[in-house]
Amino acid sequence: MMPTHLRFRRRSFLGLLFLFSLSTSALYFIYSAPGIVNEYVFMVQARGIQLRENVRNIGSQVLEQVVRGAYSVNGTDYAYDFNVSESEAPPTTYLPEGFTYLPSQVCPERLLSMKGKLEVNMSEVSLEEVEKSLLEGEPNRTPGGFWKPKDCLPRWKVAILVPFRNRHEHLPILLRHLVPVLQRQRLQFAFYFVEQGGTEPFNRAMLFNVGFKEAMKDLDWDCLVFHDVDHLMENDRNYYGCADMPRHFAVKLDKYSYMLPYTEFFGGVSGMTVKQFKKINGFPNAFWGWGGEDDDLWNRVRYANYTVSRPHGEQGRYRSISRHHRGEVQFLGRYSLLRHSKERQKVDGLLNLNYSPLVSRRPLYTNITVRLSRELAPVGDY
Ligand code: UDP
Ligand code: MN
Repeated sequence: MMPTHLRFRRRSFLGLLFLFSLSTSALYFIYSAPGIVNEYVFMVQARGIQLRENVRNIGSQVLEQVVRGAYSVNGTDYAYDFNVSESEAPPTTYLPEGFTYLPSQVCPERLLSMKGKLEVNMSEVSLEEVEKSLLEGEPNRTPGGFWKPKDCLPRWKVAILVPFRNRHEHLPILLRHLVPVLQRQRLQFAFYFVEQGGTEPFNRAMLFNVGFKEAMKDLDWDCLVFHDVDHLMENDRNYYGCADMPRHFAVKLDKYSYMLPYTEFFGGVSGMTVKQFKKINGFPNAFWGWGGEDDDLWNRVRYANYTVSRPHGEQGRYRSISRHHRGEVQFLGRYSLLRHSKERQKVDGLLNLNYSPLVSRRPLYTNITVRLSRELAPVGDY
């Protein structure tokens, strides 16, 4: 627990940041005053908008910090930290040119084919086009998009779980971007897109639980990646295999000015082994609407005595598809649920969940449609 005088200082610092944000808006207002129309002003104005956007993003992060502070989980205080600690970065040695490995050997984690910085293509594309280009030369690929390397034994069997609703146009963009990366990373993988039916608010966490249960019926996956549909990685050295600790992949997001919004941030793209996921009883089912479920997952992971690992430096960068980014209503009950993460962990998750899915196989992925409602995950007393 942080001493009171330090806490007070932190809050004052937040206050200053808010003032800064307000004054930037005022400056922007002056810039956009009518009458001064020339190119220079236009440029300044454009910069003002950019600056304002950044400040707005940071402002919302600060706000989140303040609110979270007020509802601190079980008396623990959240650290105020916009930057990732990168001191534990492992040495990055990539295999030398011309390195050969045998089909009987486990695929290396760091391959020369993983070049680092990636082009990110967010332009819209049809699913048919993506299927055509990705399946070219592989006419016999099993429906569902199951893939594994032939020149070595995959280190991990990874189920990529992607929850969505009303964002069909993001699916082919994500597949076009990610499938070639996973192939270069020599992982065995398949995609599971889990679509929420019904009229309840969106429940990202419950969809991940459903995706997990359905995926495990197909294959003995050992590694899970929980992936937002609109997140595109910018660096293919961000390896989607698992580790001995749960992993947070999406460390630096464009929408957060490439800064980690808070130390416990676990949103966007995360992953863990099947063993770890079962141990923490999966995601909570009780988060309806936007927000909180990723923080609850973080708490679950911590209560199970895991620490979260993260890719270092530029490897954790992502851009999110902004077009068609329709938001869901905020889940205001999240703070009170988060205060009881520990007690709820046992009673709400993989173990209390029932559902009836509609499963269909597409050439590049499995589609799971499921109607969600609160009765599907009854929570006993805790
Ligand atoms: N999502 C969705 N439809 C919705 C709300 C959310 O498909 O109406 C999924 C989608 O995978 C998205 C993720 O949940 O990437 C997180 O939601 P959103 O992008 O709205 O959250 P934000 O990026 O604003 O945190
Ligand atoms: Mn998003």
